[in-house]
Amino acid sequence: MTQDPHTAPDVATVTTAAKAAKPQPELCEPCSGIQQNWRRAPGHAELVQGTNRKVDRGQGQATITQYRCDRCGTAWEYENNKANLHAGWSVVSR
Ligand SMILES: [Zn+2]
Repeated sequence: MTQDPHTAPDVATVTTAAKAAKPQPELCEPCSGIQQNWRRAPGHAELVQGTNRKVDRGQGQATITQYRCDRCGTAWEYENNKANLHAGWSVVSR
């Protein structure tokens, strides 16, 4: 019985690009490009604007506008709040 002194090469690199670190895998390409929770970040052309509402954030009122993506159906909200730099786009949990 002969033993190969060389260790076997590692298993070929697994190409699972789908395992990217995207928290919302159901988002379409333009949706996943939206910078969330950042004031004045742009949306994308396929978002359809819905209703808006005013909310009380303590330091004043903010306006939240609802959007829906025409491509992947994701519901978005955009919060316009002058007092919060991190108010902006967020995905509405379904
Ligand atoms: Zn989308």
